[in-house]
Parts: sequence; C-alpha cells; structure tokens
Amino acid sequence: MEPPSRESSSPPLIEERIIQRFVRHAPSMAEAGLGIGDDGALVGEACWSTDLLVEGVHFTREADPSDVGFKAVAVSVSDVAAMGARPRWLLLGLSVPGDDAWLRRFTDGVATACRCFGVALVGGDTTRSPSHRTVSSTVGGTLVGAPLLRSGGRPGDDLWVSGPLGAAGAGWSRPIHPPPEELRRPRPPIELALTLARERLATAALDLSDGLAVDLARLARASGCGAQVWESAIPRPEGITLREATGGGEDYALLVAAGPERRASLEALGMHRIGVLTEDPAVLLLPGPWPPPLYRHFQRGEPA
Ligand code: ADP
Ligand code: MG
Repeated sequence: MEPPSRESSSPPLIEERIIQRFVRHAPSMAEAGLGIGDDGALVGEACWSTDLLVEGVHFTREADPSDVGFKAVAVSVSDVAAMGARPRWLLLGLSVPGDDAWLRRFTDGVATACRCFGVALVGGDTTRSPSHRTVSSTVGGTLVGAPLLRSGGRPGDDLWVSGPLGAAGAGWSRPIHPPPEELRRPRPPIELALTLARERLATAALDLSDGLAVDLARLARASGCGAQVWESAIPRPEGITLREATGGGEDYALLVAAGPERRASLEALGMHRIGVLTEDPAVLLLPGPWPPPLYRHFQRGEPA
C-alpha cells in the first residue's frame, strides 16, 4: 500500500488552516494597528470583532430565537472586552427565511443583550435565505488602556481563568432540557476584563470560546511559550467532567497570563490560578493527558 500523500495525511481543514491558507493573503490592515490573529482587530483606539452563528452548527432549529439573538451579541462582546475595550456598537447581519415570529423573538434577544452589555445597534444587513438562518454580529469598542493581546505572556507568568469552565460544553454534549443558561445566554466578564486592562494586571489574555485546551495553546503559541496547567486547579461546577471543562468550549470566560507579583490583585478579583507559562513549548495538563476535545472544529454540535 502506498504511504498516504502529504496532503491526504494532513488533518482536516480547521478554522485556523483556512485562515492561514486563504484569508491571510488578502491585503492586511496590520499597518493600521493589529491585524488578524487576536480576539479582535485594533484600528486606532477602537477594537472590532465579528462572529457568525449558523443554524445547525451553533444553534439548533428548535433553539429559542431570543437566546440566539442574545448570544449573537454576547460572543462578539466577549472578544472585544477580552481585548481590553469597552463594547459600544453593534452591526447585525441576518440571512433568514421570512419568519416574523422567529424574527420578533430574535430581535427581543438582541435588544436584551444590547441593554445588558451597553452596546447600541448602529447598522447591519438583511438578506433572505432559502432555508436555514445565519446571524453575524460585529461589535466595536474603545480601548480603556493598553490592549490585552494573546502575545504578551512570558515564561514564569501565572495562568488564570475568570470562572468555572464546562457548563456550556456540557449543554452541547448531553441532552439537558432546557439547555443551561451558560450555553443559551453567556455573560462575558466585561468589567473584569476592563479592570485588567485599565490596571495593567495581565500580560496576555483571550476569551475562552473553543475550550481551555485549544485556547490555551493559542495564547501560549502567540506568546512564544508553552504551558503547564494543574488539573485539580481548574474550576468546574459540580457534576461537570474534566473533558467538558477543557474540551467543550463556549465558556466565554477569560484566560489570562500575569506576572507572579499580580497574585494578590487577581485573587481579589475572584480569578482562579490554574497553571504557568513555560519556556518549554509543550502545552501540558498535569498529571494529564488532556481529555479528547468534545467537538472537532467545523463539526460543532456533533460529538467527536
Ligand atoms: P475568536 O474565536 O476569538 O472569535 P477566531 O478563532 O474566530 O477568533 O479567529 C482567529 C483570528 O482569525 C481572529 O483574529 C479573526 O479576526 C481572524 N479571522 C477569522 N476568520 C477570518 C476571515 N474570514 N477573514 C479574516 N480574518 C479572519
Ligand atoms: Mg476570542
């Protein structure tokens, strides 16, 4: 049997490979600030982030439309806050079959989220879709201090998370009715993120959207470090498995790197110290190993 070709042995196209292979070739705005690769793009004093929610991928046909609307706003708000910017403006894209009842409830959810997070709807686009629904949210905000980048971590920095992980992941992986609030209506810790930025408490940060294992590897790689995380230190609610806490995703908590001299401040902010950045590039769970991810990229919603 012939050995598999390099192409066929490579892993399936995941988000990052698509971005690396195709999108990066477009003219970049890097000269205007920070381009592709962090939670949001920096343009002057503003930070922008966009996210797509697709029916059948990010939400089910049966999902409460007001939850979908709320979440569409929350996920982009989360990215902007994690950059150290106060979320302010929302552009909303809708591709939907004409369905007044769904849209009415969806818009209720958007409005609730706008009030909750302090953002104003300033525009968007609407097109008809023959079948399923797609929602895009673009949130802009203003930096409150130095931006919180993924790339500022140094070996020896502590690693912190802002809250318990895994409740949303459990909502995807088990038939919980109704799905947990954490999955339906995530509440990113905006004020905490802004305090970190304003008081320069963090060397690096990102919001946990794809699970601790994946997102920690992103932060470590961007910082030119590896990491060690202590299994016993990862905060998780009662009944949530380690796999759900590390490989689930959609936590919308913050993962932060900070120098050891910041311990008292971060503890006072209620953060949980879970590990350390290392010179060695390996990203390890101790005693480990990392449980397998619950979902493969591009197949969210289908157990791996
Ligand atoms: P997050 O999970 O924080 O929303 P992603 O993993 O979706 O971030 O994206 C990683 C980086 O790639 C981000 O900086 C994002 O802006 C960029 N990116 C993703 N998709 C595209 C695209 N289609 N065109 C340009 N940049 C993209
Ligand atoms: Mg993010």
